[in-house]
Amino acid sequence: MKWQTILLTGGFAAQLFVLPAVDAQQASVRAQEEPVPRTRTPVQLPNPPGFVTLKCDFHMHTVFSDGLVWPTVRVEEAWRQGLDAIAITDHIESQRYRADVSTNHNRSYEIASALGADLNILVIRGGEVTRQMPPGHLNAIFLTNVSALAIADWSEALQIAKDQGAFIFWNHPGWDRQLKDGKIRWYPEHTQLHESGLMHGVEIVNEREHYPEAYRWAIDKKLTLLGNSDIHSPINQEYYVHERDIRPLTLVFARERTIAGIKEALFDRRTAVLWAGRFMGEERFLRPLFDGSIEILNPEVTVTGRGRVLLQVHNNSSTDFILERIENPADLSISSQVTLPAQKTVLLDVTGRGNPSAGTRRVNLPYRVRNMLTAPDEPLRVNIGVEIRFVP
Ligand SMILES: [Zn+2]
Ligand SMILES: [Zn+2]
Repeated sequence: MKWQTILLTGGFAAQLFVLPAVDAQQASVRAQEEPVPRTRTPVQLPNPPGFVTLKCDFHMHTVFSDGLVWPTVRVEEAWRQGLDAIAITDHIESQRYRADVSTNHNRSYEIASALGADLNILVIRGGEVTRQMPPGHLNAIFLTNVSALAIADWSEALQIAKDQGAFIFWNHPGWDRQLKDGKIRWYPEHTQLHESGLMHGVEIVNEREHYPEAYRWAIDKKLTLLGNSDIHSPINQEYYVHERDIRPLTLVFARERTIAGIKEALFDRRTAVLWAGRFMGEERFLRPLFDGSIEILNPEVTVTGRGRVLLQVHNNSSTDFILERIENPADLSISSQVTLPAQKTVLLDVTGRGNPSAGTRRVNLPYRVRNMLTAPDEPLRVNIGVEIRFVP
């Protein structure tokens, strides 16, 4: 690439940006002959012992309700973003394009699942039961016939869903358009649903919003945690997809990568939410996610007197981890703040404080992971273990 100055008539000089001839030629060849490659970018996360970590999105729309895309687009978007499973959850009561598309509520799932089979994306049949608050919007997934829910009474519709074996969750409980006095609320209707087995989970993240109150409810009432996109537009209109700005994900810890495996895990509350670089979920899942992502490349080091060593900490996952020191271990000073960027190795300072007793000991470096929350405002505490030979 280079700048070229040319003289225009009348004596004005202008600078034009010109591609070297060969680049221009290649670019035009590429534009004309090569299709844009269709690539999948994996989400790298380890599997907790006994489980496989599935990346899922259980809430999305197509032209069969008020979405702007054909159902197959949802499947390819999910494939490209490294997902394992999606649920198609068009509104049952609101069909904006009914003059243009079928009113069969199962149709969007049928179209999507055919491509899902080709791309090995698990596609789950679902629907969004859409009402004013209370109870608001609820998704029922693993349905066998969505059309059966198209009735006036919402509690009857959810009972039908339950009879079909559905997993039911409360969508976007903090959506501002449904709040009274701007406050997120748990209504008696939700107690009724919860107690009669008609509500098994709650979205603590929807689109780009997180509801800490809902996270607290989920912990107190033992509801499954969900974080979903509720995407209506093509996904590249809502996310910087090429900069790894990934939609919210529900991470499912399943015994097998099948729809039945996902269903069993959801009813057993084996999920976590990954949203905007933050993990939310129980310690029993967040801890193995962290431990399985991190590797110390030089796990045995020697600290001499007040000397410093550099630990090489590698993060093999697709997500950064933001660490904050809880305290210094005995005889050592360690970095107070350190970010472990995705798929990179970071140097972590370990400095002797002098006069330790000589010998080799296993030392735990205690940190808080600020972007892994086992409850609202409760970061996961971890120990990075190293073998240190102390030389006075
Ligand atoms: Zn909704
Ligand atoms: Zn929705």
